[in-house]
Amino acid sequence: MSIDQSRTAADGVSALADRLARLAGQAGVTGADAILISPGPDLEYFLGHSVGSHERLTCLVVPAAGEPALLVPTLERPGWDGTPVESLGIPISTWTDGEDPYRALAAVLPPDARVLAVDYHMPAVHALNAQASVTGAELTLAGEAIAELRMRKSNDEIAALAAAGAAIDRVQLRISEWLRAGRTENQVAADIAQAIVAEGHQRPDFVIVGSGPNGASPHHEASDRVIEPGDVVVIDIGGPMPSGYFSDCTRTYVVAPPDGGQIAADAREVYDLVRRAQAAAVAAVRPGVSAESVDAAARTVIEAAGFGNYFITRTGHGIGLEVHEHPYMVVGNKQVLEPGMAFSVEPGIYLPGRFGVRIEDIVVVGDHGPVLMNTAPTELTIVGAS
Ligand code: ZN
Ligand code: ZN
Repeated sequence: MSIDQSRTAADGVSALADRLARLAGQAGVTGADAILISPGPDLEYFLGHSVGSHERLTCLVVPAAGEPALLVPTLERPGWDGTPVESLGIPISTWTDGEDPYRALAAVLPPDARVLAVDYHMPAVHALNAQASVTGAELTLAGEAIAELRMRKSNDEIAALAAAGAAIDRVQLRISEWLRAGRTENQVAADIAQAIVAEGHQRPDFVIVGSGPNGASPHHEASDRVIEPGDVVVIDIGGPMPSGYFSDCTRTYVVAPPDGGQIAADAREVYDLVRRAQAAAVAAVRPGVSAESVDAAARTVIEAAGFGNYFITRTGHGIGLEVHEHPYMVVGNKQVLEPGMAFSVEPGIYLPGRFGVRIEDIVVVGDHGPVLMNTAPTELTIVGAS
């Protein structure tokens, strides 16, 4: 987790205080006596600040009843000066190398705390030692309780996602500058990575350039494969903005066929099918429908055309301070969508040994329907024509 002092209004102190109060409420609802949060996106969400996660224990304690407390290593205490923790009035305790950090943790827990809920990112060494520090303690996961808050984005968070979407769209609109036959995937990816930063991101988080058969592997990154005329190329890119909020956008391109030839008929057919499926899933987004119904909207289109066996992923994932978070658009997820939920819609068809096609936009649930965070066109784009 990077440390960013130039926080946006997305993390105003009153918003943080409200999140902490609601998290305490979630602790009560889920039967936890205290929720323990370690460095990472959850800490960032609740305190507007985080630090690197490592073997030294840093832990925010949010009791179901009572006030939050923060425990940090003494050597890192100065780094918390001037952070929202001060304005929030959260007391900071320290432990020093040579002391038992878990004894220090037990000292800031409510005396009668027995059920300790830990965030998804807490290293097992900290979670198990925290449990061992309290006689009779029971360990549970706080991830879903935290997701209840994080998956409902505020207007400031949606503005941050919109800025991320606009930045990554600008990169997608420049792909023809770099993608052409004769270059390797790695060369194209290096140019894209630079542009991701130039267009306003903190850093590139992932740069997938899946040309030809590599595109049939959804999480292929980039390789030394030389791109050939006529290749179908999946470009899936994103990263965190200075706000901490992520972009994530996929477009699939076709490299101009040799000598003015035609694009392979099946490439065009599969592309059009994915495009229709993606549009159908976006159109299905509105308050009151289930997450799995968004997946079904895309899957129905692809299955009807006989390509169901090649749509080997869920349709989407939530996005915010993490690139993958709740809610997931996947069969079996009955989560009812509400205004402010943000997630990707990214159906694909992956033909082993041949090529893949994926189109991905970030969508926010609006009061009456979908609000797109990405507006780069989805028409089939041919690049590298001479
Ligand atoms: Zn993606
Ligand atoms: Zn995605």
